[in-house]
Amino acid sequence: MSLPQVLLATRNAHKLAELRRILAGTGADLDLLGLDDVPAYDEAPETGATFAANALAKARDGARHTGLPTVADDSGLAVEALNGMPGVLSARWAGRHGDDPANLRLILDQLVDVPARRRRAAFVCAAALVTPTGAEQVVEGRMEGVIIEGPRGDGGFGYDPIFVADGQARSNAELSPEEKDAISHRGAALRALAPVLTARVAAGA
Ligand code: IMP
Repeated sequence: MSLPQVLLATRNAHKLAELRRILAGTGADLDLLGLDDVPAYDEAPETGATFAANALAKARDGARHTGLPTVADDSGLAVEALNGMPGVLSARWAGRHGDDPANLRLILDQLVDVPARRRRAAFVCAAALVTPTGAEQVVEGRMEGVIIEGPRGDGGFGYDPIFVADGQARSNAELSPEEKDAISHRGAALRALAPVLTARVAAGA
């Protein structure tokens, strides 16, 4: 018998692999597809004011266009001294979508005279599940830490080189992928959503 299909509304192979690992760890038997595995549809721009709104919009879009239970995530960095910014603008904080070095440099410049005790920040991830029958669930995962004074490490992506998570001596970019998965905002959100996904798919809803 073929496994029930679930869409993860992303083209990011890393996110697909991460959700596959997490689902395997929970014993869920699902066939997880990415956006490259389903017929193309118009993807709405991310214009929500919150991570949850963006994740939900992407998941609703996917479920509507494919008829599959759909998971979507949205994530970013919230810096306390910047009143929670860049938040949903994380991917384009310096003006151009996905310019990681410029985004990271701008945050460092904005925090130049901010002392260590006021450099708290968190990575936040909202993960949403929408089923074809209209059931919806959104969960949030967080990774708390601090913005350091200069980039460290070559791993990870985005703001990883300037972020040290609580309890770590190394920046996110100095952790192995497995070490980061275990404490990351995305890992936490996806692990929280996995049992809901399994139960919904098993119930056919
Ligand atoms: P998205 O959820 O894939 O759209 O990510 C939004 C943006 O947030 C990325 O472009 C990164 O700048 C930032 N971001 C999200 N998660 C991480 C992370 O785990 N490490 C570093 N940057 C991240």
